[in-house]
Amino acid sequence: MADLFSARGLGVRYGVARAVENVDLTVPDNGVVALLGANGAGKSSILKAIAGLIPAEGQMSFAGEDLSRLNARQRVRRGIVYVPEGRQIVGSLTVAENLLLGGFHLDGRTLRQRREAMLELFPEIAGRIHSPAWMLSGGEQQMLAIGRGLMSAPKLLLLDEPSLGLAPLLIRRVFERLVTIKQESGLAIILVEQNFRMTMKVADAMYFVRNGIIVGHRTAADLDTPASRADVVEAYLGAGQPAPA
Ligand code: ATP
Repeated sequence: MADLFSARGLGVRYGVARAVENVDLTVPDNGVVALLGANGAGKSSILKAIAGLIPAEGQMSFAGEDLSRLNARQRVRRGIVYVPEGRQIVGSLTVAENLLLGGFHLDGRTLRQRREAMLELFPEIAGRIHSPAWMLSGGEQQMLAIGRGLMSAPKLLLLDEPSLGLAPLLIRRVFERLVTIKQESGLAIILVEQNFRMTMKVADAMYFVRNGIIVGHRTAADLDTPASRADVVEAYLGAGQPAPA
């Protein structure tokens, strides 16, 4: 598979504090790549740097194009869409209006088609289309946030901790939908997560992030035995992770 996205020597600083250092990362076409690590490891900073939302050092290329000259808006036009953690949907707007925000630049017909596709993918929110978004449950809000991100038919979805604050059953639902998205569309995803067990179900490759650097990398094939999964949890993730299945 060809690489859709690659970063070389990616770095992020906040003032004098270095949050991300010398990160190399590749995402193949239609691949799902996960960044795992503890709070404050630098995962969100990597996603925001790729989206162009914060300044970054290093080289990044997307579909053969150098990203460094493109601002955040131009990157969205190229198909790079960031879905922030904590959902950040607009609570006072309805479900339909939130979806509209993700596709504001589309013509009416395309907009309706995409909206229908999103509601098929997330039937939980289809029945709530005219409800204000604040009335949705946490899992439904996360589905709405992902649906809004997908409205513009991105090529690379940057998904920041979709399981944050969700009950285990809802996390499972959100991840099931991610599997469907992966299978049904040509989309590639960079997924930031702390939940190793769920991430394993969707990711083709994982990068382990600690103190702003990549400390390990595994492909799904590397993790096909319980022993190999236990090793990774012990080496990179430590206590607090549920035992891998
Ligand atoms: P979490 O899972 O808690 O979101 P993370 O792995 O995504 O963590 P980042 O949010 O990228 O980590 O943060 C990496 C480091 O950069 C942390 O030390 C954090 O305090 C710092 N940081 C993040 N955003 C800012 C900011 N806007 N200004 C200053 N420092 C920041």
